[in-house]
Amino acid sequence: MSNVHELTYLKEKIQELKDTGVYRQLPVNAGPCEAVIDLNGKEVINLSSNNYLGLANHEKVKKAAIDAVNKYGAGAGAVRTIVGNMDIHEELEAVLAKFKREEAVVVFQSGFACNAGAIQAITSKGDLIISDELNHASIIDGVRLSKADKAVFKHSDMNDLERILKEKRDSYNNVLIITDGVFSMDGDIAKLPEMVELAEKYHCLTYVDDAHGSGVLGENGRGTVDHFGLHGKVDFSIGTLSKAIGVVGGYVAGSKTMKEWLLHRGRPILFSTSLPPAAVGAIIQSVKMLMESSEFTDKLWNNARYFKDKLSKLGYNIGKSETPITPIIIGDEKKTMDFSKALLDNGVFVSGIVFPTVPKGTGRVRCMITANHTTAQLDKAISIIEKVGKTLNII
Ligand SMILES: *Cc1c(COP(=O)(O)O)cnc(C)c1O
Repeated sequence: MSNVHELTYLKEKIQELKDTGVYRQLPVNAGPCEAVIDLNGKEVINLSSNNYLGLANHEKVKKAAIDAVNKYGAGAGAVRTIVGNMDIHEELEAVLAKFKREEAVVVFQSGFACNAGAIQAITSKGDLIISDELNHASIIDGVRLSKADKAVFKHSDMNDLERILKEKRDSYNNVLIITDGVFSMDGDIAKLPEMVELAEKYHCLTYVDDAHGSGVLGENGRGTVDHFGLHGKVDFSIGTLSKAIGVVGGYVAGSKTMKEWLLHRGRPILFSTSLPPAAVGAIIQSVKMLMESSEFTDKLWNNARYFKDKLSKLGYNIGKSETPITPIIIGDEKKTMDFSKALLDNGVFVSGIVFPTVPKGTGRVRCMITANHTTAQLDKAISIIEKVGKTLNII
């Protein structure tokens, strides 16, 4: 028998990844996350980041991070419930509550940690969680950590959601409906008004993870809830500070009661060190800039509209996105990966996304447009996408 420490069982699984063509090497970016990056030693146009507003490398945001390090040091030193709650963490939550137009905000170390901690804390045995089938992996894991029962409704299908509610509502104490605000693979927006109506009809709680909506939708990027004017109607409004805000972190916005409880039972808050001062200082700066001006979100949407319009005129299938997320749907898995690779060889980095991340036969490359792209960069990317698409007989 071989030595167990050789991890043969993992080696076998890795070989399986290689045999099925899904093994990958991590791309290496040698500089900041910008519209043009030095990827694996080659200059390429970056159509793959979540840095929607270009804040990740903004001078003012970097300066705020440096100032926070000078004042508070590199690390927070403890979890928030012991001595890791600095006055800037309090300031951050106040600024975010104002931005989100909600009573209170609790910050977590990431969007992932937020879902892993919040969902289990606000549900118990005897409750039911109903989740959209396309919800993000961190929601799926968060739901797994809850003692509540689980049900899944067909993507954005309000009839299916109501079917489950009719069948099961009466057998449970609380029912929590969970959805992404914006679905990251297709760029479509959740049917929040209808969902909130159903939640009211059946006395349910609502939980919206707006990772791709915050900084993008609503007034100056206030998110999907603001976009639909549903303030006060969504009980738990989740956002990340890692995408449009350009730094790292996650939060729940909602009522003071929500905050009081999560500060006692949100396990990542109790058992994991709080966000480092640099991140907190940078986020406060980003959010303040967003509140002051619509310059960032206007630029993002102008770029997205420009890019989408040109791609559909070229004859590409760009799906049903309602946000700057722009999929180019290819279908076949291998062809999708070939397309992505050829684009990279020609100077455009846009990741290929295939099964199991999206359903079989719906492979796509996903273009992420940001406020940072210049028109010249977008034009160059479009002409490369045209050339490669013609070579591969996609258009
Ligand atoms: C990206 C994403 C997350 C994770 O956020 P991080 O801050 O990167 O951990 C959570 N939920 C959704 C819907 C996401 O798209």
